[in-house]
Amino acid sequence: MTDNDEQDNRILTPQYYWPNKMGRMFLLALEDVMGKNGVNAVLNYARLRHRINNYPPNNLDLGWSFDEMGALNQALEDMYGPRGGKGLAIRAGRAGLYYALKDFAAVMGIADLAFRLLPLGVKVKIGLNAMAETFNKTSDQIVRIEEDANHFYYHIDRCPVCWGRKAEIPICYGGLGLLQEGLHWVTGGKNIPVEEVLCIAKGDPSCTYRVGKRPLD
Ligand SMILES: [Zn+2]
Repeated sequence: MTDNDEQDNRILTPQYYWPNKMGRMFLLALEDVMGKNGVNAVLNYARLRHRINNYPPNNLDLGWSFDEMGALNQALEDMYGPRGGKGLAIRAGRAGLYYALKDFAAVMGIADLAFRLLPLGVKVKIGLNAMAETFNKTSDQIVRIEEDANHFYYHIDRCPVCWGRKAEIPICYGGLGLLQEGLHWVTGGKNIPVEEVLCIAKGDPSCTYRVGKRPLD
């Protein structure tokens, strides 16, 4: 590929980004789950060698591309198989919540004492909105939320996890883990059912998670 081809490609395909610190958080969370050598192997497999021992810096500049995020998540599946990759990605999403809370909880206003006194349904709604707003304000990811009598629908209209990927079933497991753990945290330990019901990778218009309004237990 010549330099010109590369330039043309960049003009044809818009590049979208998470802030550096979100990419950094995902890599650190993945390290918690599979160790540093494991992460290095996945980065190598995903053709992201430039990121080995060179994680994105801890700032809000838009520097972790959806191309990188999609390639990294695809590599998890290619290396560990659909089931193994799914388990690792969900656990990384869950671990990632605690990195996100350190940075974003105060901003989202959900760390206050008064928040704990709210009814469960209100906490879930505020938690989902806070998460959506964090992505919408700081990244190129687009999230919107709808609800009906029994569920919330967390729609991601531009999703980094399945960016550039194709699949038969929903595959955005990092987001699933993040939502599961976020809802667990925000409700003080309740198990709120979450399921990805639509996925852009299988041709749907959005990656959509259906969130129950009542806990499982
Ligand atoms: Zn997706």
